[in-house]
Amino acid sequence: MTSSVLITGAGSGIGLAIAEHFIKKDYFVTVTDINEAQLQQARNRLPNDRCQFLPLDVTQASSVTTLVEKIQRQPDVVINNAGIQYVAHLEEFPMEKWDFLIQVMLVGVARVTQAFLPHMKQQNYGRIINIGSLHSIVASPYKTAYIAAKHGLIGFAKSLALELGQHDITINTVCPGYVKTPLVEQQIAQQAKEHQISEQQVIDTIMLKPMPKKAFIETSEIAGTCEFLLSPAAINMTAQALVLDGGWTAQ
Ligand code: NDP
Repeated sequence: MTSSVLITGAGSGIGLAIAEHFIKKDYFVTVTDINEAQLQQARNRLPNDRCQFLPLDVTQASSVTTLVEKIQRQPDVVINNAGIQYVAHLEEFPMEKWDFLIQVMLVGVARVTQAFLPHMKQQNYGRIINIGSLHSIVASPYKTAYIAAKHGLIGFAKSLALELGQHDITINTVCPGYVKTPLVEQQIAQQAKEHQISEQQVIDTIMLKPMPKKAFIETSEIAGTCEFLLSPAAINMTAQALVLDGGWTAQ
């Protein structure tokens, strides 16, 4: 039976919404984030008796070690959600930033997952969910690092699913289209400035243009998909990409 969920990058956006969803469903949630101010906001917003709040920088091995030491309830479910974005032509993309993006969104996922696998193996149960993106399936220009990391999550899940085959431990990637979170709002503002157009024009003419449905994905859809992955109906679902993109990747 699943009872304890750990979420990375849960002080904001999608991670926070998933935390809220699982708390309402009576799970115990470990809310982790690099950003202390956002973690404090989450602390003020969520019922503290149903969760623990811990700082975590997924790029730092020592931070993960401290998390493992301080966590009240070992997680049955790990949701790797922490993410950042940087948009630039490859020729102008500082290599340190390229490397850092991969550290956060690919190496960080491996590091956090590795830390909690012994517990999952010991109890012969675990659910690992990585938050990918429609950019785990298709590409857009100027996002080489983000897209390499997000594509990498699919391969990571496939390989680890094979390693874990004999255990009741699944690993899947939830791949949403654009969701209006602080990460995306920042991107909209940046593009509006660059192209000297309004933010609504960025949304209509750039961001949602390839999406048949022309609508942002709601965080509740992502949380609901994560919940489905914990249900008995998904017991044999592993190494899969679950794409929530209003038909974007069908083209
Ligand atoms: P947010 O920026 O709202 O939330 C991401 C959180 O992760 C932030 O609190 C951020 O802190 C934190 N974080 C950044 N670096 C680290 C780190 N090294 N260790 C731990 N936490 C860290 O973004 P979203 O909610 O939009 O994104 C969540 C995930 O969903 C990401 O993986 C993103 O790629 C993915 N996604 C988002 C989509 C969207 O349209 N929004 C679409 C598809 C996928 P800080 O604010 O300080 O950086």
